[in-house]
Order: sequence, then C-alpha cells, then structure tokens
Amino acid sequence: MNTEFCVFLDAGHGGIDPHTGKYVTAPSKQFEHTSGSFHNGRWFYEGVWNRILTDRVAQKLDSLHINYIKVYHDYVDLSLSYRVDAANWYDRYYKKTLYISNHSNASGSGKARGFEVYTSPGTTTSDKVAEAYFKHVESLFGNTISYRQDRSDGDPDREAKFYVLRRTSMSAILGEHLFFDNLEDASFLMLDETVERFAEAQVRTIIEFWKSI
Ligand SMILES: [Zn+2]
Repeated sequence: MNTEFCVFLDAGHGGIDPHTGKYVTAPSKQFEHTSGSFHNGRWFYEGVWNRILTDRVAQKLDSLHINYIKVYHDYVDLSLSYRVDAANWYDRYYKKTLYISNHSNASGSGKARGFEVYTSPGTTTSDKVAEAYFKHVESLFGNTISYRQDRSDGDPDREAKFYVLRRTSMSAILGEHLFFDNLEDASFLMLDETVERFAEAQVRTIIEFWKSI
C-alpha cells in the first residue's frame, strides 16, 4: 500500500436502492421540474448526481494510481458522523490526506444558480484547496456557468459550519455544483461534458494539493 497520500471521497446523501428502485434520500434533496428529463422523468435526485460526479472522480484517480477511499455507500444515506469517522480513522495510515464532499444546491425558489465551494470558518489549509478547485472549475467552464463567491476574506470560497468540514481532521472542501432546482442548471448538470469537467477540475485540484508542501 502506498501510504503517501489518500483522498476521502464523499458523495452527499443517498442514491437509488437497486432492490426497490426507490430514491432513499430526504425529500428536500430532490426536485420535480415542470419540463425536461432527469433521473426519474422530471425528478432530479441530488444524491444520484453527487454519485455520478464522485464515481467519475474515482475512475480518474484509478487511472492515475492515486489512492482514494469512498466514505459514501452506493445508495444508503450514511450519517455524516459515519462518513467523517471513517475518514478520520483511515487518516492515520497516510502522510497526507484530503476530504472532498460533492453536492448540488437548492434554493427553494428555483431562481438561484451557480457554483460554490465551502470550507470551515477561519483560515486553514482547506482554503488553498478550495481556491484551487474554484480556479480549475473557472478555467474549464469559463462563462458557461455562474459563480457564487465570498471575497470578503480575500479568497473565493464560502465558509460554513458544515459537519463534514468541521469534524474532519484533514483539509476538507465541499462543492455545491450548481442548483438542481433551477431548470437551466439542472439541465446543464445532466450533460456528460459537465460531469467530466467538474471531475477533471477536482482531479487537478487533488494533484495540486498532493504536490504542495
Ligand atoms: Zn447536498
């Protein structure tokens, strides 16, 4: 086992239970659009999309021979403490580690759009990682998506007391990839090219973090 580096991959919420065909996540993590075609007719399932992106990142890491551990389940909505405890437990075996949690956002009004990255409050090593992810997403998407930034503290990431950011013992970021309850954003998320670009931006961020001192 190469113990130099490991990424803990987290895909938010749950997926579709193959035994029942049902989406197992809380109702707020899905949205029924008035038109379009998503994961189940007009229903967009955030947990399903989070898995599509995170699985693509894992595939890319496989081909680059970069260690990762998935702290999410194929479809069960594991508790946040379970995910964080798993990462913190495995952390001891590696010299350098990083935690990435993938989500898509919802505003409730369906009007908000755009991409954001979160870190825990205060200045930590996570800020550099979030900055790098933001930069790579910007360079791969240009003006095809909108960006939601908080520049009040000099960097583009937004700060929030998300459990997975506060309780992980390593650098950690949480990406909110556009708004799934906005029709334009949701339609854009369904394109394979969109998944590919976010995954590529994430892998570039991972490599940059790994190579940094
Ligand atoms: Zn989410």
